[in-house]
Parts: sequence; structure tokens; C-alpha cells
Amino acid sequence: MDGSSDELSSRLDRLSRSRFRTRFILHENDIKYFQEKGLDNIMGHAHRFIRDRLAPANPPKDGSQTPMKGHPVFIAQHATATCCRSCLKRWHGMEKGVRLTESQIAWILELIKAWFLTQLEREQICDEDQSVRKRGDHQGMLF
Ligand SMILES: [Zn+2]
Repeated sequence: MDGSSDELSSRLDRLSRSRFRTRFILHENDIKYFQEKGLDNIMGHAHRFIRDRLAPANPPKDGSQTPMKGHPVFIAQHATATCCRSCLKRWHGMEKGVRLTESQIAWILELIKAWFLTQLEREQICDEDQSVRKRGDHQGMLF
């Protein structure tokens, strides 16, 4: 997927201009969760949430399936407009009523991961994460 990182950063850029989306940030307890679990584990959770709650053609409770807090991935989903099928359609052009493809799921996860990295860098605990990002870039290890 060459060029996808450009697309990711331009999408993040657009999201960063939404007053609603930028209200979602990682708080101290989320950062602590990262330090305990690590980015890879948390991306594993993200994969599960997206697969179970977003990927089906008609996800149960679509529009309210993503809580506003309780897991850093939920926050990331609101911040990146990957919280429900309407937001996926409006922001990312992914059609409703059809199952998400594997590459759409992978792209959503890349977007969530990129958002996490910008948040974690802001918290200056990025040493570890920069190496995670380098590895992740060319091995696609999470997917
Ligand atoms: Zn939504």
C-alpha cells in the first residue's frame, strides 16, 4: 500500500480541523493503559472491535456501538470518525449496508494507530513507539 501514509496523514489533518473530533484525546488513565499493555496489544483490541462492531454489513446498534470512554480504542474511534458506519461513510467514503473488506479494516486500523502515535508523541513516551512504527510500516505485522 504505497502512498497510504500520505493518505493517512491528510485524513488525520482533516480530522484535526473538526472541533467535535479533536475533543477526543487520550487521558492519563489511557496513557497508563498503553504503558501497561503496549501498542501491539491495544491494536489487537482495536482489530477485534472493528471486526465485531463495525465490519458486519449491518452492525448491531449502529450509531451507538462505540462508547465515549472505557478503552483508548473507543476514544481513537471517535477521534478518527471510525466509530460507526455513518461516520465511516461520511468521512472515509465506506459504503453502508455492505461488509467492510479486509483492506478497509486494515486501513481503519492504520488510521487508528497513526492517531495513537500522534497522541503518544504528545505525551513524550514515543521512543518505543517510533520503533513500533518503523517495524509496522513495512511488515504490516498487526494485520
Ligand atoms: Zn460515528
